[in-house]
Amino acid sequence: MANFESYYQKLIQDANDPFLRTAVEKALVNYKTRKETWLKRITNIPELAKELKKRRDEAMGHLEENLKKAIQIMQENGMKVYQAKDAQEACKIALDLIGKEKVITKVKSLTTEEIGLNEYLEEHGKEIWETDVGAVLLQVAHRKAAHPTGVSISVPKEVFAEYFSKLAGKQLPPDPNVLVSFVRDFIRQKCLESKVAVSGANAITADTGSIYIVTNEGNDRLVTSLPQKHIIIAGIDKIMPDRDTANLYCQVMPLYTTGHATTQYITQIMGISSSSDIERLSVKPAAGPSEIDVILLDNGRRKMVQDPDFKEAFRCLRCGTCLYDCPVWNLVAHDFGEHVYMGGLGVPLTLFSLGLDAVATQALSCTQCGRCKEVCPMEIDTPKLIRKTRSMMLKNKITPKQINAMLNNVVEKGSPYVR
Ligand code: SF4
Repeated sequence: MANFESYYQKLIQDANDPFLRTAVEKALVNYKTRKETWLKRITNIPELAKELKKRRDEAMGHLEENLKKAIQIMQENGMKVYQAKDAQEACKIALDLIGKEKVITKVKSLTTEEIGLNEYLEEHGKEIWETDVGAVLLQVAHRKAAHPTGVSISVPKEVFAEYFSKLAGKQLPPDPNVLVSFVRDFIRQKCLESKVAVSGANAITADTGSIYIVTNEGNDRLVTSLPQKHIIIAGIDKIMPDRDTANLYCQVMPLYTTGHATTQYITQIMGISSSSDIERLSVKPAAGPSEIDVILLDNGRRKMVQDPDFKEAFRCLRCGTCLYDCPVWNLVAHDFGEHVYMGGLGVPLTLFSLGLDAVATQALSCTQCGRCKEVCPMEIDTPKLIRKTRSMMLKNKITPKQINAMLNNVVEKGSPYVR
């Protein structure tokens, strides 16, 4: 059952936390300044976003067809493909694929957070290591991500120094250069020890079965190239009809994520690495992993795409630009919502995987100001989706006692404020 009281207590605590406020403000200024600068240089990104939105809409009507094509071509390309209906099934498949291997390295991925993969693997005796600087911090500090891509933007550098010092076994100063350099050496060592890599995917194309992984830190190259086995876990919303659409996505996404016009690394994987250098014979594997496994996750996505009221949420890129403009997120960051997908858009994204009760507190935290809708590159009407969720909550009697009291007052006494 939704616990409104404890949730709102947490929000009040966050709203009064000066460290959280300072960290979020700094991140916001940096993001907006960078975005404005790049938009002056590369002016057509909003136009490209409109085109991407159109294609995401069209692709929704062809989901099963594109999925089938993508699976077939990925298999032809030598990858093993699995389909998971929910989080439990996806975790189980991943564990079976990992087998006896103990150390696993990982590229930050919202989908793996959605299914609780790290916790599941740890419960089964595995040692799993995140490799993005912010994700390593969250892992060792047991903290929740503050943003889909800038996961640690609400954490001050002194906290990074405290936790990374513990990991290093020596005192590290709160100097970002020193801290990033420490993580660089640390994850390189872990990548050498690990025989299994796990990542998500930003896009999977139905025409060539190409898997796109987009990062800035370059850790995906290390993580997904060195180990013997690479397991990719991606939601079925990541299936795109063709490379043209995936390339369009790569042109649009970075601006709305980090404020940059492009990203540092775009990795495209089309199958097991191969060499044709000896008499033009194709020999596999070459330098990369000898096995690539792809787990395609539903976890409520099919239900969402079939729901006329909520299907527009399927277009979501998980860029998080709506959060930067959200007044609630600006106050409480990671605590706007109790699950992985925070903020307004987190409501429909979580609704279809965890159910109405799980999103009740989050849906009622929204102010309905409408800023998220104005800035969303996919033009998703999040306030409308939240209103729809709230009316479902009313029907199902999932509301805090204060709201129930007001409703009773209206019915019985003609005013919400009569006591
Ligand atoms: S709702 Fe829009 S702005 Fe928010 S994460 Fe999704 S695509 Fe980005």
